[in-house]
Formats: sequence, C-alpha cells, structure tokens
Amino acid sequence: MDENDEAIRTPIVSVLGHVDHGKTTLLDEIRGSAVAEAEAGAITQHIGSTVVPIDVIERICNPDEEFDLPGLLFIDTPGHHAFTTLRSRGGALSDIAVLVVDVNDGFQPQTVEAVKILDRTETPFVVAANKIDAVPGWKTQEDAPFAETFAEQSERVQNDVENALYEIIGDLHDNGFQADRYDRVNDYRSTIGVVPVSAETGEGIPDLLMVLVGLAQRFLTESLTTRPNGSGEGTVVEVKEKKGLGTTVDVLVYDGVVEVGDTVVVGGQLDPIVTEVRALLEPSEKVEINEEDEFNRVDRVVAAEGVKVAAPELDDAMAGAPFVVVGEDDELGDVTQRVRSEMDEIGVETAEDGVVVKADTVGSVEAVAKALDDAEVPIMNASEGAVSRRDIVDAETADEREHRAVIAFNVDVLEDAREYADEALVKLFEGDVIYRLIEEYEDWVEGMEEERA
Ligand code: GDP
Repeated sequence: MDENDEAIRTPIVSVLGHVDHGKTTLLDEIRGSAVAEAEAGAITQHIGSTVVPIDVIERICNPDEEFDLPGLLFIDTPGHHAFTTLRSRGGALSDIAVLVVDVNDGFQPQTVEAVKILDRTETPFVVAANKIDAVPGWKTQEDAPFAETFAEQSERVQNDVENALYEIIGDLHDNGFQADRYDRVNDYRSTIGVVPVSAETGEGIPDLLMVLVGLAQRFLTESLTTRPNGSGEGTVVEVKEKKGLGTTVDVLVYDGVVEVGDTVVVGGQLDPIVTEVRALLEPSEKVEINEEDEFNRVDRVVAAEGVKVAAPELDDAMAGAPFVVVGEDDELGDVTQRVRSEMDEIGVETAEDGVVVKADTVGSVEAVAKALDDAEVPIMNASEGAVSRRDIVDAETADEREHRAVIAFNVDVLEDAREYADEALVKLFEGDVIYRLIEEYEDWVEGMEEERA
C-alpha cells in the first residue's frame, strides 16, 4: 500500500445528554453486549475509547445485508463537555452522536444544550429514548427482536411509550429538527431517528446500533475516508503525568498512521510543540498492580484509534489541541504554521466593551463564546483557567454596567478574585451548564433594565 491509498475508517461516536439520563449505562451496555457477542479479544479497549468491530455489530443486529464499515469507535467520556473539547481541524472530532433522553423525564437543560452544540457543529445524531423499562406497565421481552415487540408493548401499555416518544419528537421540533420514530424514518440525514431503548435491559440497543451504522454508512463515507499509510493526525484527549514517562498525551488518531520515532507537532498553551514520539502505549489485557505493566508498547497505530503517546516537552500540551505527524514530504514550518493557526482559530471574536469569559478547556471557551454570540452578548476577552483578580479588573473596565460580568464555566474562582468582585461590583456567573449561565446572565440584565424603567 502506498501513501495515497484510501480506506474507510471507523466512525467516532460520542454520547451526549442530560445528567442521569443514562449516558454511562448506555456505553456500558453497548460494551457489555458487544463483549457477550464477541470471541475473546475481539473488542478492543483503547485509550479513552472502545472499538466495537463490525462483525460483532452484525452479530448483535442481524442485518439483511453486510455492513461496510470497520466498526464503531465510542468515546468513553460521555457528555457535551468532552464533545466540545475534542475537536479536529476546527470542527467536532466525533463523526456521529447519540443523544440520550430519559423518556420519563423528557428534554432538560443539558439536552437542549447538547442539541444546540450538535446543530452548531453539524454533527449527525440519533436519539436514544432511554429507560423505556421504567415506563409504567412496560415488560421486558428478552427473546424477541425489539422492532417486533414494540407494537405489542405499545398496546399493552396503552401507548405510554409512544406518547413519551412523541414528546421528545416535539421537543426536537421546537429546537429546529425534524424527527420521527426510527422505524418510520426514510432519510436519517433530514429526519432525526428516535430509538426507544433501555440501557438497563439492553432492549433496543441492536436497533440503535443499526441506525448508527446506517447513518455513518450512507452519509459519512466522504468524511470517513482516510489514508491508512499517510502521516498521522489526531486530537489530544488528555494530558497526563505518567510515572517513569513524564508528561504523556492521550491522542485519538483520526487519520493516517503514527509510529515510534515520528516527529510530531502538538498544539501548546503558547507555541506549537515540536517533539519526537518515544513510545506508543495501549492498555494491556490484564491490568497489573504495578502501574508500569498497565500498558503494552506498540510500534505504530492506524486511525481511528486511541493511544497514549510518550514524548519529551509535552508539559504545555492542551486537551483538544491538534497532534500532527510531520511526514517525509512535509515541511516542518508548514505543519507548525497549520497547528498554530488551528490553535488561533480556537480564539474568540472580542469587542472593546463586553463580558469576560473563563472556562476550563479550549473547546468550552469556544462553546461559551458561541452561546453568548447567539444571545448577542459581546465578549471583551475569553480564556481558559480559574477566575483570577486580573479577570475582575478587566470586567470592571467595561463601560456598560451590563458588561461588568464574568461568565465562569466549570472553573474555580480564586478567593481574592471573589472578594474583589464584591468590591468592584462585578457580577460573577458560575456553573456547568452553558445554557443556564446565559439565562442567568440575561435575567440579571433584564432585572437591571426593569429597575431603570
Ligand atoms: P448519566 O449521568 O447520563 O451518565 O447517567 P447514568 O448512566 O449514570 O444513569 C443514571 C441512573 O439511571 C443510574 O442509576 C442508572 O442505573 C439509571 N439508568 C440508566 N439507564 C437506565 C434504564 O434504561 N432503565 C432504568 N430503569 N434505569 C436506568
């Protein structure tokens, strides 16, 4: 194979949704049912992700025709926070998403937030209408395929499930999406499929996997085309200290190949980092007590795959930053420039007078900034990290009273900053739901306007 050969890589799938709606349980159930179907060793646990190979999915789903993808890669960390942090070339790293909605609880603030993020990043998604087993009257049928039992179940529980599904379909509609029950959808690109599932009993999981594979297969093949022998590209998932190895980066490789000895450019807090791959590590089958034995060393990895990379000089690397191999025909300067401009793109449009934004990662700074932009709230500056006194001083300089505010997403507020905010009459908004932060900010502004009136 040469460098220009092309292949279809494994689609990258993220799971999003409101807290407690069952994201973690769903991921566990998918892994669990895959393990149950697989020959020993067929499921591969990667760094930060799990790959379910296509033959395992076929055994679970029993499709009429063969699927034409290598499998599905599930990012192990659910939630829109991980989703917005994990980017590639300025967009979302995930190719598809599963939006989990508890049928008994319906749309909640983080559901709305997730839908907005999926909309903005143009990420195709499927809704897993979860916890159908908890709908009053529902009986689990272990043996029958879900699609057949649905009608029987609907009759028996007097359409309770169906009504719950229609509420979700209505909420999607209110958020600008056409949606329908998955078995009535012809085109999953224009209509969001809603699949009733139970992460607890496993019902509906085959249908969910089937819809995911169908969606990827039909509509994503272009973005899934990769050069299996081209130079590797990935996204830093996490930066971690590792005993005996120093600072390492966990990388999701989404294109090409990464090999030990490769020169790579990694996005850093200030400048791009140029370094050389010393070791590539994957989780070993049996986890030993001795930390050193937790990993197997490998010589190369091919997209899409998660891997831990040991290399010098990684201290300034950032989660969400690009990781790019400098190929034989590439100029180091070009690659560095590209990484630098990708890091700059993460930057936010600022105004002379506006609020101050602080958030915990590059991706979340951007997500908060986008949400403020949608709400037509100008930003004076936006950066990562805890709220410090300096941020309050910045906010204090705003001309408009309504701009003397700091929007702090998922970060600490340093003690002296909090004290000074009181003194300087700078309003602090803290939280971990972007959409709520903005609502609170808008309520505050509205309150001031009413006072003035
Ligand atoms: P997350 O916060 O979205 O990751 O939600 P979890 O996966 O932690 O689930 C929250 C709670 O809901 C846990 O107590 C789960 O056991 C429960 N749960 C998740 N899925 C189901 C389901 O399909 N049926 C029922 N009855 N409970 C579920």
